[in-house]
Amino acid sequence: MQSKPHKTGYPSIILYANIVLKPLHMSREEKTSHFSTDYLGKTIPVQIQRQLRKECFYGCAVCGVPLLKYAHIVPYNRIQALLPENMIALCPQHYYKYDSGDLSESSLREAKKDPHHKLQPQDAFFVESQDLTINIGKCKFINTHRILAVDDFDLITVTRENGKYLLLDVNLFDRMNSLIATISENSWVAGNIAGWCIDYVPQKKHLNIRNVQRNITFEMIMENTELYIDVMMYYNSYPISVTRNEISLNGSEIGIELKNSVLKNYDICIAAYT
Ligand SMILES: [Zn+2]
Repeated sequence: MQSKPHKTGYPSIILYANIVLKPLHMSREEKTSHFSTDYLGKTIPVQIQRQLRKECFYGCAVCGVPLLKYAHIVPYNRIQALLPENMIALCPQHYYKYDSGDLSESSLREAKKDPHHKLQPQDAFFVESQDLTINIGKCKFINTHRILAVDDFDLITVTRENGKYLLLDVNLFDRMNSLIATISENSWVAGNIAGWCIDYVPQKKHLNIRNVQRNITFEMIMENTELYIDVMMYYNSYPISVTRNEISLNGSEIGIELKNSVLKNYDICIAAYT
C-alpha cells in the first residue's frame, strides 16, 4: 500500500513501499535514560550535564569538539561530591588525557573559566537560521528532529538548544547488534572510546565519527546553513546506509517516494521496520 505524504501540516502516518512511518512517543527524559557517567562510573545527573554544556558553549572546554564527557577537576575521591563548579565538559580525547594525567588541574581551571567557544564563538556547533533544514538521501526535511528510527527505536535525532546550538542523539550498533556507542544530547555515553575517531572542522560544522574497524560512520556537515547527514550503521544486524543520493536498509533503497521533496514539520524523517 502506498500513499503520497502531505507536504504541509503535521502528518502522523505515512505509508510507502513496505516502510511505515508512524509517531514514536518517547520523551526527552526517556531518551536520556543512558545517563553519562564519570570515570568512576558515577551517574552525572542530566541537569548537571546541561549546565556544564551551556557554560562551555556546547563544546569541549579545551578544543571545542562538540561531543562531551564530564570530568571532576579535583578528583571525586577527594571531595566525594558531584559539584558543577568542580566539573568540566571535555571531548572524549581530552577527558582521557586528563584521566591519564596528561592535563593538569590548573589547565582545566583555565579552560573552565575561558572555554574554547567563549574565545572562538564562531567555532561552536550551531546553525543560526530560523528553520533547521536537514538533508538525507535526496530529501530535505525542515524542522523535523527525529531523523531516523528503525523498529520504533530512534537511531538519529537532531535538535537545537538556545535557538541555535546543535544537539545530537545517536545510537550506533555493530553488525552483531551490540550497542557500541550512544550519544545523548551530545554526551558521549559509550563506555569505550577505543576504536573511534572523532573529527570536527568548525568552519563547516563538519562532525565525523567513525569506527573503521566496525565499518560504522556518522557524518554531518553544514552547507549554506543546511545540514547534510551521511551514515553507515546497523540495526538488528541490518546495514543502513544514508548518502546524499539514497537511503538503504539491508541493501534495498527506501523512501524513494520522498526523493526530491521538501517536507516541513513532519514527526519523523524516516521510520523503517525490519
Ligand atoms: Zn577536546
